Amino acid sequence: MRATFHHSDTESHNVKTFWFETPESLRYTAGQYTEITLPHDNPDNRGIKRWSTLSSSPTEKLLAISSEYAGDENTSSFKRALFNLEAGAQVDLAQAMGDFVLPKDTSTRLIFVGLGIGVTPFRSIFKWLADNDEQRDITFIHSVATEDDIIFQNIFDEAHQHATIVVEDPSDTWGGERGQLTAQMILGIGKPDSDTLIYLSGAQDYLERLQRDMLREGVKQHQIVTDFFPGYSKS
Ligand SMILES: Cc1cc2nc3c(=O)[nH]c(=O)nc-3n(C[C@H](O)[C@H](O)[C@H](O)COP(=O)(O)OP(=O)(O)OC[C@H]3O[C@@H](n4cnc5c(N)ncnc54)[C@H](O)[C@@H]3O)c2cc1C
Repeated sequence: MRATFHHSDTESHNVKTFWFETPESLRYTAGQYTEITLPHDNPDNRGIKRWSTLSSSPTEKLLAISSEYAGDENTSSFKRALFNLEAGAQVDLAQAMGDFVLPKDTSTRLIFVGLGIGVTPFRSIFKWLADNDEQRDITFIHSVATEDDIIFQNIFDEAHQHATIVVEDPSDTWGGERGQLTAQMILGIGKPDSDTLIYLSGAQDYLERLQRDMLREGVKQHQIVTDFFPGYSKS
C-alpha cells in the first residue's frame, strides 16, 4: 500500500519514529510488522526494502515505524534515506504480518522483554492496551546500553505499565538495574510459572542466546514468543 511520510518524532539521540498517512487504513494487530520499500538514489547492495515493526497502535490515525540510526561508515543507504525523508515522500508498505501479538486469553501472565530498539512492538501493544482501557498481567523489562537509549517511557506511563529498565553501561547516578541482561535476570524479575508466556524482541544473535539459556533453565519452548531483528548485532 502506498503511504505518504507525514512527520517524524525524535525518541533519543539515534532513534526516530516516522509517521505515515495511507489512503485507506492498513489492517493490523498491535505487535505486527510490515515490509517498507523506500526507493532512493544510489541504493547500496542491501537494497531499498526493510522489515519493520509497526510501532504505532491500530488505535492511532497514522502508521508508524521506529528505527535506529547507527551513524557509522557502514550505515546503509536505506537508513540514510529514511532519516532524511521529507514530508510528502512516498513509500510502500506490505500487508502487516506476524504473531508477536497479545494472546487471546486475557488472563495469561506475560513477560515482555525488549532489547534496545526491539522495544518497538511493545510501544504498539501498550498504546493499544491504554487506548482500549484493557489491563493484562505483564512484567515488562527493557534492556538498553545507556540511560540515553530509554525510549517510549510516556507510552508505558500512559498504560500504567511499570518498566524494569536494565542499563548495560549506566552512569554513576543510575539507581536501577545494571549489567547485560541475562536469562537468569529475566526469570528472577519475571518469576514465570508454567503457563506464563515470555515475549522476546531484539537483535537476533542476542535473542537466540537468551532463548537457549532460558530453555536450559527449564522454560518450555512453547512459552517463548520471539521477534528477531536481523541486521543488528550485539555480542
Ligand atoms: C520482523 C522484523 C521487525 C523489525 N523491526 C524493526 C524495527 O522496529 N526497528 C528497526 O530499526 N529495525 C527493525 N528490524 C530490523 C530491520 O529490518 C533492519 O535489519 C535493521 O534496522 C538494520 O537496518 P540496515 O540494514 O539498514 O542497517 P543499519 O541500521 O544501517 O546498520 C546497523 C548496524 O549493522 C551494521 N551492518 C548491518 N548490515 C551490514 C552489512 N551488510 N555490511 C556492513 N555492516 C552492516 C552497520 O554497520 C550498523 O552498525 C526488524 C526486522 C524484522 C525481521
